[in-house]
Amino acid sequence: MKNFFKKLGEKIKANKKKTVVISVVAFVTVCVVITVCCLSAFLFNRFATGYVPTDEQLAAAKGQYKRVVIIGVDGVGDFFSKSYTPNFDTMFSDKVVNGTQINASVTYTGTALYPTISCENWTSMFHGVRPVYHGFIFRDTNQRVENGEQANEEYPSFVKLFLDQNPEGKVLSVCTWRGVNNGIIEENDRITKYNSYPNDIYQFLENYDPVTKTAANVMTVVDESEEATANTTIYDNIPGIEGELYDYISNQVKMYGYADETIEMRDAMTMQRVIAETVNNPDKYQIAYMHLDQVDHAGHSFGYGKPGYVNAVSRVDMLIGRMYAAYETAGMLEDTLFILCTDHGHRLPGGHKNHGKNTKLEVNVTFAIAGKTVKSGTPGKFINDDLAPIVAYALGVKGCDKWQGKVPYNMFTLLG
Ligand SMILES: [Zn+2]
Ligand SMILES: [Zn+2]
Repeated sequence: MKNFFKKLGEKIKANKKKTVVISVVAFVTVCVVITVCCLSAFLFNRFATGYVPTDEQLAAAKGQYKRVVIIGVDGVGDFFSKSYTPNFDTMFSDKVVNGTQINASVTYTGTALYPTISCENWTSMFHGVRPVYHGFIFRDTNQRVENGEQANEEYPSFVKLFLDQNPEGKVLSVCTWRGVNNGIIEENDRITKYNSYPNDIYQFLENYDPVTKTAANVMTVVDESEEATANTTIYDNIPGIEGELYDYISNQVKMYGYADETIEMRDAMTMQRVIAETVNNPDKYQIAYMHLDQVDHAGHSFGYGKPGYVNAVSRVDMLIGRMYAAYETAGMLEDTLFILCTDHGHRLPGGHKNHGKNTKLEVNVTFAIAGKTVKSGTPGKFINDDLAPIVAYALGVKGCDKWQGKVPYNMFTLLG
């Protein structure tokens, strides 16, 4: 034995160079294997799993809903699970409405795509692919879509596919953050787009009559285009709504201060316009999208979970309640599929109040869906680029073969 070790020692000495090389190679190999394993675990968590509906499944889904309403809440992450949001809870709960069973499926641990920036994620949500594919990644992406730059057209949005496959179809999109309307959703004559701008708020405040609690002929011109029609009082059919809204918001502002000078009012206008347009013309739009932006602004101003952030979520919840009440009164709950989604959360306050990185609170997202073909409970893994296949499926629209998103498991009754 002694001899054996002696010989081995001599051998090693003789082959010192070789041993060092072998050791280095072995070490590097182990490092590479570990890195690949970690990276794929990280990446695979971001690859969608779920269904690509067959033609038969799409045919069965078609006609189930008169409309899909998508409430996009920027920057709220998982915070609906941590706030008092009675209206969100009502909208996304199981219930029977006029004899129709409506179910809800909710998760607070959906996954935002990296980087956790608005443009990257909203584009993935509409176009069904990860940022590196749709082409908006890093480098001033939010400004680029605001300025009208379009996503890679190889990956059409669910809006475009819906319009292509439904020649009579119409879409409404009302945004507090103009990026979605200006760049993310493709242009089409059958999409009505509005961006809610501060100018309209000032007009509203100037013309507000505290006695009648109305501001008739004012909350109208939100459309930036030249054809925007002034003096069409689309809000007339919902009596008293402007007054209540004004009182609520001005009280909130008095109590808690602003996150941003007019962001609360702009969000309120965004919601009001979607309610008014869809309730007054219930058969007109099959997709109604809205983008609410105050929670993200509050995240940048106050930080995730701080009182100003909590209040922003509560104000958004109030707006959700207005929509639910209006749809209930109009008898529209049964034939609507409601979706609430968000692009990303916010980093814990401490340093710079922002998002864009990969921390849990930035990555975790709320996804909630309620309708008569929804399976009650919690869906399988949801990733932001699943939104496009989900909406397409719900409307019986064939998705794009190149989409990476899928319809998550356990979300719809008819998919098993
Ligand atoms: Zn955002
Ligand atoms: Zn932000």
